Amino acid sequence: MTPITRIKETLAELVRIDSVSSHSNAEIIEYLERRCAASNLVTQRFPYLDERGIEKFNLIALSNPATEVELALVGHTDTVPYDPNWSDATNLTERDGKLYGRGACDTKGFIAAALTAVEMIELSHLTKPLALVFTADEEIGLRGAKKLAEAKPLRVRYSIVGEPTSLKPIRAGKGYSLAEVIVKGREAHSAYPALGASAVFRAARLINRLEAIAIQLKEDRHPAFDPPYTTLNIGLIHGGSAKNVLAGECSFTLEWRPIPTQPSEHVLNLFKAAIQEETQSDPDFVCEVDASRADSGFETAPDSPLIRLLEKATGNNSGTVAFGTEAAQTMALGAESVVIGPGDIREAHRTGEFVPVHELERCAEILKEAVEQLCKL
Ligand SMILES: [Zn+2]
Repeated sequence: MTPITRIKETLAELVRIDSVSSHSNAEIIEYLERRCAASNLVTQRFPYLDERGIEKFNLIALSNPATEVELALVGHTDTVPYDPNWSDATNLTERDGKLYGRGACDTKGFIAAALTAVEMIELSHLTKPLALVFTADEEIGLRGAKKLAEAKPLRVRYSIVGEPTSLKPIRAGKGYSLAEVIVKGREAHSAYPALGASAVFRAARLINRLEAIAIQLKEDRHPAFDPPYTTLNIGLIHGGSAKNVLAGECSFTLEWRPIPTQPSEHVLNLFKAAIQEETQSDPDFVCEVDASRADSGFETAPDSPLIRLLEKATGNNSGTVAFGTEAAQTMALGAESVVIGPGDIREAHRTGEFVPVHELERCAEILKEAVEQLCKL
Protein backbone atom coordinates (compact mmCIF):
# COMPACT_ATOMS: atom_id res chain seq x y z
CA MET A 1 0.00 0.00 0.00
CA THR A 2 1.40 3.45 -0.90
CA PRO A 3 1.72 5.97 1.92
CA ILE A 4 -1.04 8.20 0.49
CA THR A 5 -3.47 5.27 0.27
CA ARG A 6 -2.68 4.46 3.89
CA ILE A 7 -3.14 8.09 4.99
CA LYS A 8 -6.49 8.35 3.19
CA GLU A 9 -7.68 5.07 4.69
CA THR A 10 -6.62 6.26 8.16
CA LEU A 11 -8.29 9.64 7.70
CA ALA A 12 -11.52 7.95 6.57
CA GLU A 13 -11.49 5.83 9.74
CA LEU A 14 -10.81 8.86 11.95
CA VAL A 15 -13.54 10.93 10.30
CA ARG A 16 -16.03 8.03 10.67
CA ILE A 17 -15.63 8.28 14.46
CA ASP A 18 -17.78 11.20 15.57
CA SER A 19 -15.58 13.01 18.11
CA VAL A 20 -17.40 16.30 18.62
CA SER A 21 -16.17 17.87 21.88
CA SER A 22 -19.60 17.60 23.56
CA HIS A 23 -19.29 13.84 24.03
CA SER A 24 -16.60 11.46 25.23
CA ASN A 25 -13.61 10.89 22.94
CA ALA A 26 -13.25 7.28 24.21
CA GLU A 27 -13.93 5.73 20.79
CA ILE A 28 -11.27 7.68 18.91
CA ILE A 29 -8.79 7.12 21.78
CA GLU A 30 -9.39 3.34 21.51
CA TYR A 31 -8.71 3.56 17.78
CA LEU A 32 -5.49 5.52 18.34
CA GLU A 33 -4.35 3.08 21.04
CA ARG A 34 -4.79 0.17 18.63
CA ARG A 35 -2.89 1.94 15.88
CA CYS A 36 -0.06 2.98 18.19
CA ALA A 37 0.21 -0.50 19.70
CA ALA A 38 0.47 -1.96 16.19
CA SER A 39 3.50 0.32 15.67
CA ASN A 40 5.02 -0.94 18.95
CA LEU A 41 4.44 2.34 20.74
CA VAL A 42 3.70 2.15 24.47
CA THR A 43 0.47 3.97 25.27
CA GLN A 44 -0.87 5.53 28.42
CA ARG A 45 -4.29 7.13 28.94
CA PHE A 46 -4.81 10.24 31.05
CA PRO A 47 -8.53 10.37 31.90
CA TYR A 48 -10.42 13.28 33.43
CA LEU A 49 -14.03 14.34 33.86
CA ASP A 50 -15.09 17.42 31.98
CA GLU A 51 -17.29 20.06 33.62
CA ARG A 52 -20.43 18.09 32.67
CA GLY A 53 -19.04 14.90 34.22
CA ILE A 54 -18.22 13.27 30.87
CA GLU A 55 -15.06 11.17 30.82
CA LYS A 56 -12.41 12.44 28.41
CA PHE A 57 -8.95 11.10 27.68
CA ASN A 58 -5.58 12.40 26.70
CA LEU A 59 -3.33 9.70 25.28
CA ILE A 60 0.46 9.53 25.16
CA ALA A 61 2.21 6.94 22.99
CA LEU A 62 5.98 6.52 23.37
CA SER A 63 8.59 4.86 21.19
CA ASN A 64 10.19 3.62 24.40
CA PRO A 65 9.20 4.15 28.04
CA ALA A 66 10.66 7.49 29.09
CA THR A 67 9.71 10.63 30.92
CA GLU A 68 11.88 12.84 28.72
CA VAL A 69 11.29 12.80 25.01
CA GLU A 70 13.09 14.52 22.18
CA LEU A 71 10.07 15.14 19.98
CA ALA A 72 6.30 15.08 20.54
CA LEU A 73 3.78 15.12 17.70
CA VAL A 74 0.59 16.60 19.16
CA GLY A 75 -2.91 16.39 17.71
CA HIS A 76 -6.33 17.03 19.24
CA THR A 77 -8.94 14.32 18.91
CA ASP A 78 -12.07 16.47 19.17
CA THR A 79 -13.84 18.44 16.46
CA VAL A 80 -16.36 21.25 16.36
CA PRO A 81 -20.01 20.16 15.81
CA TYR A 82 -21.41 19.77 12.32
CA ASP A 83 -24.65 20.78 10.64
CA PRO A 84 -27.02 17.75 10.63
CA ASN A 85 -27.80 18.61 6.99
CA TRP A 86 -24.19 17.79 6.05
CA SER A 87 -24.98 14.15 5.29
CA ASP A 88 -21.36 13.19 4.57
CA ALA A 89 -19.85 14.88 7.64
CA THR A 90 -18.49 11.56 8.95
CA ASN A 91 -18.06 9.90 5.55
CA LEU A 92 -14.77 11.06 4.02
CA THR A 93 -15.38 12.02 0.38
CA GLU A 94 -12.78 12.80 -2.28
CA ARG A 95 -13.37 15.37 -5.03
CA ASP A 96 -10.81 17.18 -7.19
CA GLY A 97 -7.84 16.30 -5.03
CA LYS A 98 -9.57 17.30 -1.80
CA LEU A 99 -10.87 15.16 1.04
CA TYR A 100 -14.06 16.41 2.68
CA GLY A 101 -15.36 15.54 6.16
CA ARG A 102 -15.70 16.97 9.67
CA GLY A 103 -12.21 17.14 11.14
CA ALA A 104 -10.50 16.34 7.81
CA CYS A 105 -8.74 19.70 8.04
CA ASP A 106 -8.89 20.35 11.80
CA THR A 107 -7.09 18.19 12.86
CA LYS A 108 -7.60 14.57 11.83
CA GLY A 109 -5.61 15.11 8.62
CA PHE A 110 -2.51 15.83 10.70
CA ILE A 111 -3.18 12.79 12.93
CA ALA A 112 -3.56 10.51 9.89
CA ALA A 113 -0.27 11.86 8.50
CA ALA A 114 1.49 11.42 11.87
CA LEU A 115 0.29 7.81 12.31
CA THR A 116 1.37 6.94 8.79
CA ALA A 117 4.74 8.69 9.20
CA VAL A 118 5.44 6.63 12.33
CA GLU A 119 4.61 3.44 10.42
CA MET A 120 7.19 4.39 7.78
CA ILE A 121 9.96 4.81 10.39
CA GLU A 122 12.06 2.00 11.81
CA LEU A 123 11.41 2.98 15.44
CA SER A 124 14.07 0.62 16.82
CA HIS A 125 16.67 2.77 15.02
CA LEU A 126 15.70 5.90 16.94
CA THR A 127 18.21 6.80 19.61
CA LYS A 128 16.03 9.41 21.33
CA PRO A 129 12.41 8.89 22.40
CA LEU A 130 9.48 10.03 20.28
CA ALA A 131 5.99 10.69 21.66
CA LEU A 132 2.63 10.96 19.98
CA VAL A 133 0.29 13.05 22.13
CA PHE A 134 -3.46 13.04 21.51
CA THR A 135 -5.55 15.53 23.44
CA ALA A 136 -9.22 16.10 24.24
CA ASP A 137 -11.34 19.26 24.28
CA GLU A 138 -9.04 21.51 22.25
CA GLU A 139 -12.01 23.14 20.54
CA ILE A 140 -13.61 24.16 23.84
CA GLY A 141 -10.69 25.89 25.49
CA LEU A 142 -7.60 23.65 25.11
CA ARG A 143 -8.78 21.79 28.20
CA GLY A 144 -7.08 18.46 27.57
CA ALA A 145 -3.74 20.11 26.82
CA LYS A 146 -4.09 22.24 29.95
CA LYS A 147 -4.57 19.06 32.04
CA LEU A 148 -1.33 17.66 30.58
CA ALA A 149 0.49 20.95 31.15
CA GLU A 150 -0.53 20.80 34.83
CA ALA A 151 0.21 17.10 35.35
CA LYS A 152 3.51 17.28 33.42
CA PRO A 153 3.77 13.54 32.72
CA LEU A 154 6.61 14.22 30.26
CA ARG A 155 9.46 16.59 29.58
CA VAL A 156 9.58 17.44 25.90
CA ARG A 157 12.46 19.03 23.99
CA TYR A 158 10.62 19.80 20.74
CA SER A 159 6.95 19.64 19.89
CA ILE A 160 5.09 19.76 16.61
CA VAL A 161 1.47 20.72 17.18
CA GLY A 162 -0.92 19.82 14.37
CA GLU A 163 -3.26 22.55 13.16
CA PRO A 164 -4.12 23.52 9.61
CA THR A 165 -1.44 25.99 8.47
CA SER A 166 -1.14 24.93 4.81
CA LEU A 167 2.19 23.38 5.90
CA LYS A 168 3.67 26.70 6.92
CA PRO A 169 5.67 26.34 10.16
CA ILE A 170 4.17 28.67 12.76
CA ARG A 171 6.71 29.66 15.41
CA ALA A 172 4.62 32.08 17.48
CA GLY A 173 1.01 32.62 18.38
CA LYS A 174 -0.94 35.18 20.33
CA GLY A 175 -2.58 34.25 23.62
CA TYR A 176 -6.28 34.32 24.35
CA SER A 177 -7.98 35.92 27.34
CA LEU A 178 -11.61 36.38 28.21
CA ALA A 179 -13.52 38.21 30.92
CA GLU A 180 -17.24 38.50 31.61
CA VAL A 181 -18.11 41.96 32.91
CA ILE A 182 -21.32 42.84 34.76
CA VAL A 183 -22.02 46.51 35.43
CA LYS A 184 -24.69 47.19 38.03
CA GLY A 185 -27.23 50.03 38.06
CA ARG A 186 -30.49 50.78 39.83
CA GLU A 187 -33.79 50.38 38.03
CA ALA A 188 -36.23 53.31 37.95
CA HIS A 189 -39.01 54.66 35.71
CA SER A 190 -37.31 56.36 32.77
CA ALA A 191 -39.44 59.47 33.32
CA TYR A 192 -37.58 59.99 36.63
CA PRO A 193 -33.93 59.10 35.90
CA ALA A 194 -32.71 60.79 39.08
CA LEU A 195 -34.38 57.98 41.08
CA GLY A 196 -32.05 55.31 39.65
CA ALA A 197 -28.79 54.80 37.78
CA SER A 198 -28.56 53.33 34.30
CA ALA A 199 -26.23 50.33 34.07
CA VAL A 200 -26.14 50.87 30.29
CA PHE A 201 -24.78 54.42 30.60
CA ARG A 202 -22.22 53.18 33.10
CA ALA A 203 -21.18 50.30 30.85
CA ALA A 204 -20.93 52.73 27.94
CA ARG A 205 -18.46 54.92 29.87
CA LEU A 206 -16.40 51.85 30.73
CA ILE A 207 -16.44 50.67 27.11
CA ASN A 208 -15.23 54.11 25.99
CA ARG A 209 -12.26 53.61 28.28
CA LEU A 210 -11.66 50.17 26.78
CA GLU A 211 -11.59 51.70 23.32
CA ALA A 212 -8.88 54.07 24.58
CA ILE A 213 -6.99 51.08 26.04
CA ALA A 214 -7.20 49.35 22.64
CA ILE A 215 -5.48 52.37 21.08
CA GLN A 216 -2.85 52.48 23.85
CA LEU A 217 -2.10 48.76 23.25
CA LYS A 218 -0.96 49.55 19.70
CA GLU A 219 2.19 51.11 21.15
CA ASP A 220 3.56 47.78 22.44
CA ARG A 221 4.50 46.17 19.15
CA HIS A 222 5.65 42.72 18.11
CA PRO A 223 6.48 43.05 14.42
CA ALA A 224 6.20 39.31 13.69
CA PHE A 225 2.41 39.49 14.07
CA ASP A 226 -0.43 40.81 11.97
CA PRO A 227 -1.72 42.99 13.56
CA PRO A 228 1.55 43.60 15.45
CA TYR A 229 -0.01 44.34 18.86
CA THR A 230 -2.53 43.03 21.39
CA THR A 231 -6.10 43.43 20.15
CA LEU A 232 -9.27 43.50 22.21
CA ASN A 233 -12.91 42.99 21.39
CA ILE A 234 -16.29 43.39 23.04
CA GLY A 235 -18.24 40.77 21.14
CA LEU A 236 -21.43 40.60 23.19
CA ILE A 237 -23.42 43.10 25.23
CA HIS A 238 -26.75 42.73 27.01
CA GLY A 239 -28.50 45.24 29.19
CA GLY A 240 -31.80 46.46 30.50
CA SER A 241 -35.30 45.01 30.69
CA ALA A 242 -37.57 47.50 28.89
CA LYS A 243 -37.37 50.73 26.88
CA ASN A 244 -38.88 52.81 29.67
CA VAL A 245 -36.85 51.39 32.54
CA LEU A 246 -33.39 52.50 33.62
CA ALA A 247 -31.25 49.42 33.12
CA GLY A 248 -30.47 47.60 36.35
CA GLU A 249 -27.68 45.56 34.80
CA CYS A 250 -25.51 45.54 31.70
CA SER A 251 -23.11 42.73 30.90
CA PHE A 252 -20.53 42.35 28.16
CA THR A 253 -17.70 40.03 27.15
CA LEU A 254 -14.20 41.40 26.89
CA GLU A 255 -11.80 39.30 24.86
CA TRP A 256 -8.16 40.08 24.14
CA ARG A 257 -5.34 38.37 22.27
CA PRO A 258 -2.03 39.32 23.84
CA ILE A 259 1.25 39.23 21.94
CA PRO A 260 3.48 36.60 23.63
CA THR A 261 5.94 39.23 24.91
CA GLN A 262 3.19 40.83 27.02
CA PRO A 263 1.85 39.22 30.23
CA SER A 264 -1.79 38.22 29.72
CA GLU A 265 -2.77 40.12 32.89
CA HIS A 266 -1.51 43.41 31.41
CA VAL A 267 -4.86 44.23 29.77
CA LEU A 268 -6.73 43.11 32.88
CA ASN A 269 -4.65 45.50 34.99
CA LEU A 270 -5.36 48.40 32.61
CA PHE A 271 -9.05 47.51 32.72
CA LYS A 272 -9.09 47.38 36.53
CA ALA A 273 -7.43 50.79 36.64
CA ALA A 274 -10.19 52.10 34.35
CA ILE A 275 -12.84 50.69 36.70
CA GLN A 276 -11.04 52.36 39.60
CA GLU A 277 -11.25 55.73 37.81
CA GLU A 278 -14.97 55.24 37.19
CA THR A 279 -15.48 54.44 40.87
CA GLN A 280 -13.71 57.67 41.82
CA SER A 281 -16.02 59.84 39.69
CA ASP A 282 -19.14 57.77 40.53
CA PRO A 283 -18.87 56.26 44.06
CA ASP A 284 -22.00 54.20 43.41
CA PHE A 285 -20.33 52.49 40.44
CA VAL A 286 -20.36 48.70 40.84
CA CYS A 287 -18.82 46.29 38.37
CA GLU A 288 -17.96 42.59 38.60
CA VAL A 289 -15.21 41.08 36.45
CA ASP A 290 -14.91 37.34 35.98
CA ALA A 291 -11.64 36.73 34.12
CA SER A 292 -12.34 33.16 33.02
CA ARG A 293 -9.52 32.58 30.56
CA ALA A 294 -5.89 33.61 30.30
CA ASP A 295 -4.26 31.31 27.75
CA SER A 296 -0.73 32.40 27.09
CA GLY A 297 0.74 32.75 23.64
CA PHE A 298 3.95 31.09 22.54
CA GLU A 299 7.07 31.97 20.69
CA THR A 300 9.99 29.86 19.50
CA ALA A 301 13.13 31.58 18.27
CA PRO A 302 13.46 31.76 14.47
CA ASP A 303 16.86 30.04 14.69
CA SER A 304 15.59 27.05 16.72
CA PRO A 305 16.73 23.77 15.10
CA LEU A 306 13.07 22.74 14.93
CA ILE A 307 12.06 25.84 12.96
CA ARG A 308 15.10 25.61 10.69
CA LEU A 309 14.40 21.94 9.99
CA LEU A 310 10.74 22.56 9.11
CA GLU A 311 11.48 25.62 6.98
CA LYS A 312 13.92 23.53 4.98
CA ALA A 313 11.63 20.49 4.76
CA THR A 314 8.57 22.51 3.67
CA GLY A 315 10.28 25.20 1.62
CA ASN A 316 8.12 27.70 3.53
CA ASN A 317 9.34 30.52 5.76
CA SER A 318 8.04 30.35 9.32
CA GLY A 319 5.28 32.72 10.39
CA THR A 320 2.92 33.60 13.23
CA VAL A 321 -0.81 33.30 13.90
CA ALA A 322 -3.25 35.45 15.84
CA PHE A 323 -5.28 32.53 17.23
CA GLY A 324 -4.74 30.17 20.14
CA THR A 325 -3.23 26.68 19.84
CA GLU A 326 -1.95 23.97 22.17
CA ALA A 327 1.65 25.09 21.55
CA ALA A 328 1.64 27.16 24.75
CA GLN A 329 0.76 24.05 26.81
CA THR A 330 3.54 22.04 25.18
CA MET A 331 5.94 24.87 26.10
CA ALA A 332 4.87 24.26 29.70
CA LEU A 333 6.30 20.75 29.23
CA GLY A 334 9.62 22.36 28.35
CA ALA A 335 9.30 22.23 24.58
CA GLU A 336 10.33 24.51 21.79
CA SER A 337 7.13 24.36 19.76
CA VAL A 338 5.92 24.80 16.26
CA VAL A 339 2.42 24.57 14.80
CA ILE A 340 2.05 22.99 11.38
CA GLY A 341 -0.38 20.85 9.47
CA PRO A 342 -2.14 20.21 6.18
CA GLY A 343 -5.21 22.23 5.21
CA ASP A 344 -6.18 25.86 5.59
CA ILE A 345 -7.51 27.25 8.88
CA ARG A 346 -10.03 29.30 6.87
CA GLU A 347 -11.61 26.00 5.74
CA ALA A 348 -11.80 24.62 9.29
CA HIS A 349 -15.01 24.82 11.35
CA ARG A 350 -17.13 25.08 8.18
CA THR A 351 -19.59 22.73 6.54
CA GLY A 352 -17.61 21.14 3.74
CA GLU A 353 -14.23 21.43 5.49
CA PHE A 354 -11.55 19.70 3.47
CA VAL A 355 -7.85 18.90 3.28
CA PRO A 356 -5.89 18.79 0.01
CA VAL A 357 -4.54 15.30 -0.73
CA HIS A 358 -1.09 16.53 -1.77
CA GLU A 359 -0.65 18.42 1.52
CA LEU A 360 -1.57 15.31 3.50
CA GLU A 361 1.03 13.32 1.64
CA ARG A 362 3.67 16.04 2.09
CA CYS A 363 2.83 16.33 5.78
CA ALA A 364 3.61 12.63 6.38
CA GLU A 365 6.95 13.02 4.56
CA ILE A 366 7.82 16.13 6.57
CA LEU A 367 6.92 14.48 9.89
CA LYS A 368 8.96 11.41 8.98
CA GLU A 369 11.94 13.61 8.20
CA ALA A 370 11.53 15.59 11.43
CA VAL A 371 11.37 12.41 13.54
CA GLU A 372 14.36 10.87 11.82
CA GLN A 373 16.47 14.00 12.12
CA LEU A 374 15.56 14.91 15.70
CA CYS A 375 15.29 11.45 17.28
CA LYS A 376 17.98 9.55 15.43
CA LEU A 377 21.03 11.63 16.34
ZN1 LIG B 1 -7.67 22.42 15.66
